[in-house]
Amino acid sequence: MKEVKIVEAPDGHSGAGFFATSLDQAIGLARSYSLWPLPFATSCCGIEFMATMGAHYDISRFGSERPSFSPRQADLLMVMGTIAKKMAPVVKQVYLQMAEPRWVMAVGACASSGGIFDTYSVLQGIDRIIPVDVYVPGCPPRPEQIIDGLMQIQYLAQNESLRRRNTDEYQELLASYQIQ
Ligand code: SF4
Repeated sequence: MKEVKIVEAPDGHSGAGFFATSLDQAIGLARSYSLWPLPFATSCCGIEFMATMGAHYDISRFGSERPSFSPRQADLLMVMGTIAKKMAPVVKQVYLQMAEPRWVMAVGACASSGGIFDTYSVLQGIDRIIPVDVYVPGCPPRPEQIIDGLMQIQYLAQNESLRRRNTDEYQELLASYQIQ
């Protein structure tokens, strides 16, 4: 391994110093460890979220222990549970009220695909109305899986360029999800 030589600076300071980085990476790191989730829980999967937020799983390790019940102050929309078609416009409204950058996690089979409720009144996956970044499988998913989903979102937040949301493709994607 290459030996690192610590050189004393002219002002007398010596030490490991710091690494310079790009603004993209610095902001990405800050964002990924300060994701404030908005829990949109309608049924059983929401109970697993409560367990995830408890001391045992300690989601504050990831900087996400502060749930936000205002879309204006949330970065991460977590949809958990069965979404009836009558509820769909509300989910979309909440999403649209969140500021950019925002991420969406579909937690559990119902939010991801309608789950066992393959019926006329249930939305067959929230990606029919809003863009989804991460799908967490399970009926219900264990807290470990929800944390894994959060870590996937962290990875996205950390590696996303600040400019991504200004592209024409992204704006077109958003336009396709506007309230009809
Ligand atoms: Fe309930 Fe299963 Fe649907 Fe989660 S995925 S809301 S546990 S029925």
